[in-house]
Amino acid sequence: MFFEKLMKKMFIWFSKNRPLNWLAIHCHILHPLSRAFVAGETIDEAIAAVKELNQDGCRATVDILGESVVSPEKIDEVVLEYQRLIRRINEEKLQASVSVKLSHVGLSLGKRFCETRMCHIAETAARYGVAIEIDMEGSEDTENTIEIFRMLRKKYRAVSFRLALQAYLHRTHEQDIAMLAQDGTAIRLVKGAYQESPLVAYQCLEVIRGVCCMLINYFAREDIRARGNHLAIGTHDPILIKHAKEILAEHGLPKDTFEFQMLYGMYVQEQHRLVKEGYPMRVYVPYGTRWFPYFMRRMAERPANVWFVVRGVWRGLFDGEIRHRIMTTLKTMDRKAP
Ligand SMILES: Cc1cc2nc3c(=O)[nH]c(=O)nc-3n(C[C@H](O)[C@H](O)[C@H](O)COP(=O)(O)OP(=O)(O)OC[C@H]3O[C@@H](n4cnc5c(N)ncnc54)[C@H](O)[C@@H]3O)c2cc1C
Repeated sequence: MFFEKLMKKMFIWFSKNRPLNWLAIHCHILHPLSRAFVAGETIDEAIAAVKELNQDGCRATVDILGESVVSPEKIDEVVLEYQRLIRRINEEKLQASVSVKLSHVGLSLGKRFCETRMCHIAETAARYGVAIEIDMEGSEDTENTIEIFRMLRKKYRAVSFRLALQAYLHRTHEQDIAMLAQDGTAIRLVKGAYQESPLVAYQCLEVIRGVCCMLINYFAREDIRARGNHLAIGTHDPILIKHAKEILAEHGLPKDTFEFQMLYGMYVQEQHRLVKEGYPMRVYVPYGTRWFPYFMRRMAERPANVWFVVRGVWRGLFDGEIRHRIMTTLKTMDRKAP
């Protein structure tokens, strides 16, 4: 337990470390590492991954990797990329939404700045009929994220929006869910992936699970569903998945009352099993070059993910992919040497 907590702290620290982030982007040897959980670096690779998921009966939500961007030029590029992505989803008739982290589109430069950029994305989404999911980041951004989400919903009624809420935050079950449920809101319930203080967030897995179960029960209630609320459960946790299935059966509710969501590359067999059983399944598909913080948070979640990647690297060495990249990098360095 102590070791797991230490690992978690270490990986979350890595995820925010600027030199490591720089190294991950510029040192091509490391890129194959990301392949365990990332669909690729380009829009074409992401679209190909979504097509495959759709063929397997899974919906998708596509995220362009990146966060805490502070350069206005870079933010405008991200907005353009989201607009291109939305058009491609429409052209290819894919069952997919887009997922956006507000710190990727300017939240670090202020709420107003971010709102304008999100409006550009929402206008394109309205034109092409693509839904938008808004990820939840660190607790310092929760209030602004909820406010921007509510503004967008009000302004762009033609667009379906969904907001991620983190069960580990006290405020989620104390105030946010009840407030959002008054308006009939689509929520993605997740445990929470950031390092938060005990002052604002539960630290114990059992307690967080308990909150998740309580909120699943809440969204199964007839009066809550009748107001147009909808729950997606973003988890790989077998206990929560079992609980959600049992609640549906207990209330005699159809299997599509909730949507299950999982991350790309994780528990693929479980994803297929749920689809086979008739439950809606959406896979979160990240792509892009800024994969390092996302990748480190996946490492922080479960020590098993670390071994999963280490095994992949070991195999990669023998398959030659990583070996080839190491050799190419060494050759380049050789050429650059005086
Ligand atoms: C679609 C999606 C979107 C997300 N969006 C956000 C977001 O916007 N903001 C945010 O903060 N976080 C987000 N997350 C991350 C989330 O907060 C958690 O950090 C992450 O999902 C890990 O929690 P978990 O519930 O999946 O299971 P864990 O808490 O990692 O696992 C719980 C327990 O179950 C075990 N376990 C898990 N899966 C399996 C399995 N398949 N078989 C056997 N044992 C298993 C684990 O070993 C552990 O003991 C998202 C997650 C998903 C899936």
